[in-house]
Amino acid sequence: MKRTIDDIRGDFPILNRECRGKPLVYLDNAATTQLPLCVAERIADYYAHSCANVHRGAHLLSEEATDQLERVRGQTARFLNAESEREIIFTSGATGGINLLAASLGRAGLANGANIVVTEMEHHSNFVPWQQLCHDRGLAFRVVPITESGELDREALVRLVDENTALLALTAVSNVLGTVNPVGQIVSAAHAKGVPVLIDASQTTRAGRLDVRALNCDFLCFSAHKMLGPNGVGVLYGKEAMLEKLPPSAYGGGMIDSVTAGETRFAELPAKFEPGTPNISGILGFGASLDYLQELGIDEIAARERMLLDRAEDSLRAMDGIRVFGSPPERRGCLSFAVEGLHSFDTAALLDRLGIAVRAGHHCAQPLMDALGVSGTVRMSPAFYNTEEEIDRFCASLVRIAEMRRSL
Ligand code: PMP
Repeated sequence: MKRTIDDIRGDFPILNRECRGKPLVYLDNAATTQLPLCVAERIADYYAHSCANVHRGAHLLSEEATDQLERVRGQTARFLNAESEREIIFTSGATGGINLLAASLGRAGLANGANIVVTEMEHHSNFVPWQQLCHDRGLAFRVVPITESGELDREALVRLVDENTALLALTAVSNVLGTVNPVGQIVSAAHAKGVPVLIDASQTTRAGRLDVRALNCDFLCFSAHKMLGPNGVGVLYGKEAMLEKLPPSAYGGGMIDSVTAGETRFAELPAKFEPGTPNISGILGFGASLDYLQELGIDEIAARERMLLDRAEDSLRAMDGIRVFGSPPERRGCLSFAVEGLHSFDTAALLDRLGIAVRAGHHCAQPLMDALGVSGTVRMSPAFYNTEEEIDRFCASLVRIAEMRRSL
């Protein structure tokens, strides 16, 4: 990276605070990343200097806010290498985007005998909306299992996706195991059967460059708050031709062309899918986070995060009394483990006492927990602003906890 880590950490004041009397070690980045000051400043700047509603105002402030918001749409299209800004829909987050698509597909009408395919490693956000849609419409809901190593069972995937599949919805990276799914290959195989694919990219926005044209996915969603942006903002990308065919998922102001008592004509893309006042300040903050990530370099960020994760995995694997979940050939973003004989909440609570923030429990992935045969795991997830010393402190703390457990 062009800048030193100390310098970068200066952009994130929270990283210098204490927790429980110890310097904070924040290793819960798969849940939410921290915001650099420039993102918070961008949000404050909107409220301080250009606060107005977008798209509808007939005055300068509204024009300014609209220009700024639309600039972020353009920036997002370039970030994803989308063909057009019309393919970028601002949402409240990955969950918002998936529910939007599920509601729209449901409204579009799905053929009798159709099915929807998800995987056992989905976050509930990319599982429950499809399960419920299938229940409501009497469709078959199919779940691709995982293998011993925590990868997708590719044979089952090939078997379960067929010409009656209305959608294959899968994550690019597991939010529990960090498994990297070969989404490019999976998209090609699904397309060969005429099946559209939604990629949940929530855990992969810092793991390398996203390129929707190279992936050739039909839809892709993510949240800003896992990529240094504010919470309550996300993006649903859809190929223009697919979005054109779909009806709106929700109604309101801003998404219409004309309304009479007898009929409503809907606006063009992307407004058709964006009823109501958007999270303007959040979208502008997201724009600032994209600037920040791109200035540091996504490839450099990805390489550093991989190094930190590998360092943690190597240490954990060498420890007595620690079980690391899964052994996929490629792992990104996070690592799940258990201290033998300790509940995941107890391990996380002990780490918290030492100032170390990790996540414990089912991680909104209960079907995956069932497949692993556990009620929960402990998950550590570094970001580029973490240091090697922090990883080592986390590992040394785990050694102490495992020893303590053994001595009981
Ligand atoms: N999908 C995955 C893979 C996730 O990790 C998460 C967040 N943990 C989500 C979806 C949901 O994201 P959000 O809560 O921001 O909508």
